Amino acid sequence: MMIETVLSPVSPESLAMAGKLFREGQIVAFPTETVYGLGAWAMSREGIRRIYEAKGRPSDNPLIVHVAPGMSLEGLAGEIPEKAKILMEKFWPGPLTMIFPKGDRILPEVTGGLDTVAIRMPSHPVAMKLIESCGLPIVAPSANTSGRPSPTTAQHVLEDLSGKVPLILDGGPCSVGLESTIVDLTGEVPMILRPGAITEEMLQEALGEVTVDPAVAAAVSLAKDIKPKAPGMKYRHYAPKGRLIITDYPAGDIASWIREDEKLPGEKLGLIGSSEWLDEIMNHLAESHEDQNICRIDLGKREDKQQIAAALFDALRRADETGLTKMYGEAFAREDLGEAIMNRFLKASSERRFIKR
Ligand code: AMP
Ligand code: MG
Repeated sequence: MMIETVLSPVSPESLAMAGKLFREGQIVAFPTETVYGLGAWAMSREGIRRIYEAKGRPSDNPLIVHVAPGMSLEGLAGEIPEKAKILMEKFWPGPLTMIFPKGDRILPEVTGGLDTVAIRMPSHPVAMKLIESCGLPIVAPSANTSGRPSPTTAQHVLEDLSGKVPLILDGGPCSVGLESTIVDLTGEVPMILRPGAITEEMLQEALGEVTVDPAVAAAVSLAKDIKPKAPGMKYRHYAPKGRLIITDYPAGDIASWIREDEKLPGEKLGLIGSSEWLDEIMNHLAESHEDQNICRIDLGKREDKQQIAAALFDALRRADETGLTKMYGEAFAREDLGEAIMNRFLKASSERRFIKR
């Protein structure tokens, strides 16, 4: 069923409207510091059903419960381990989701039948104000169509969910641009289920020993026998329509692949990477005057990982808009925020050409 979608700036009126919609079992898209979320009141079966329907999300992929500062976790989490308290103190509000034993107020629809629940306290002022002002815990997956890159602007949400959501609150582009780190605190040793802006290094510094879900460590084109602990991580994500090849080969090699590609009819070629990487490749191509038709998608300076993270999902969407049929992407170093960047970039790729293993 198609409904009218209102794209609204954030105001006391639009926040009040959002709260009213939540109480009526409706859904609302809103900005967080990570990506835009598609929210519903966590206690509304109707709202939860609408989230899955609007996104086309598989029902075994559970939702994250979002809370505001001062809100009690009573009934949401069944138990709050000591290590979780340390992380809350240090990283909440912020881009960190924690997995707890599920509390008795959590509907089975939220957790996809699991006996654990994911909870996060976002730091974006609009998300905070929204949750605070309606006083309700809000379940919110990313506000994209399932399988597409997560939305980092209100425009991205509109592209995917126009006619499916009554209200989108526009809070400008998201500062982090990648989904939250997920860390499971139900076991002996905390385990990272999804890398994000709160990095492994930061968690280790706060807690000591931290492990990474082997399915994440193995990264991407998951071997069939490694089942990730976050159900959502098993799905291929973000993939552009064209072929995306992530590579750490030198610029000269990439330039020669492109020269070969250009001999093929109908190929629309692109490059996605840092400004420096794009310049190096274009310099090689310029020597032979074969730099005319390459679409360059610049993620920012290589050193500025935050900028690169924030630009990535928009870049993948632009690759489709431009109709690219084949792209090369830069392999970034998998350390600090680079781990989360490469987790998403590799998930979007169809091929890897790596010298270094
Ligand atoms: P999204 O909100 O779209 O970023 O997706 C939420 C992510 O959290 C998905 O990858 C889910 O599989 C994961 N998730 C939610 N609840 C749980 C849980 N109880 N245990 C493990 N992963 C979870
Ligand atoms: Mg998502």
